[in-house]
Amino acid sequence: MKIIAFEYAGRRRLGLVQAEGVQVLEDVVDIEELIHLPERLQVDSSLPLLAVEQLVLLSVIRPRRNLFCVGWNYRKHFDESIGKREGQGPETLPEVPTFFTKATTTVASAVDDLPLHPELSSKLDWEVELAVVLGRGGRDIPEDQAMAHVYGYTVANDISARDLQRAHGAQWFKGKSLDGTCPLGPVLLTADEIANPQALRISCRINGQTVQSDSTANQIFPIARLIAELSRGMTLLAGDVILTGTPDGIGAARTPPVFLREGDRIESEVEGIGCMRNQVFGALSAATSSYRIASLNCE
Ligand code: MG
Repeated sequence: MKIIAFEYAGRRRLGLVQAEGVQVLEDVVDIEELIHLPERLQVDSSLPLLAVEQLVLLSVIRPRRNLFCVGWNYRKHFDESIGKREGQGPETLPEVPTFFTKATTTVASAVDDLPLHPELSSKLDWEVELAVVLGRGGRDIPEDQAMAHVYGYTVANDISARDLQRAHGAQWFKGKSLDGTCPLGPVLLTADEIANPQALRISCRINGQTVQSDSTANQIFPIARLIAELSRGMTLLAGDVILTGTPDGIGAARTPPVFLREGDRIESEVEGIGCMRNQVFGALSAATSSYRIASLNCE
């Protein structure tokens, strides 16, 4: 299933994306309801099929607790950041994943304008990621059983304030948790629809120019390992969201470094799932943006 969230008649609704249009679901407004009570997946037969282009997309997931994130999970991204910066070689690749979280208030939709936070940061950066939504929680989940805990996948961008990320000791939390800095969407694709989540093209474009492009095949720690490591001695819950790391090509690692500016248009895409389009706003009101195109792809 390809699930989206949108506003309809002043209310948040979920829908199933079909070739001929969007079927509106009865009553349910959150993915978590479908996870816990799959029998509530009922199409509202009183409503017509809707055209995606006419919908105001909302964040497909509203996580109840912080989003779990992974740092340095693609080899080339490790090299462009910590590896290169500290003159370390391949032998220093981490043996276990680097985990941190983003606050739930970072969550935005696939079309929301993203705040630049110019009063706090001058170094807002992009990080396209494959996000995993758990359908089943657990503790000490064995790696060989971990994929059975995945409900589905979506696209994320772990927008990061690099100056704040490094200003608060060694803790990234503050720089990763400014409001509106985690667009998620445009769809949640259930796990049964992806044959191999470790073989997906993942890319980010800024103003039409490709800045990140890689394959999830190049993740240092694949999804199953991330779930296994994260759940060691720590209970994961159904509905938890895990961002699985970003490929190389971030702005901070460029020469000279490049950071987001007002008006920049960010396209975040994972093959087979979809593409988000978000525009950055600073002093301008978000409402002035003309970039709110309700589309599930970037073509
Ligand atoms: Mg990240």
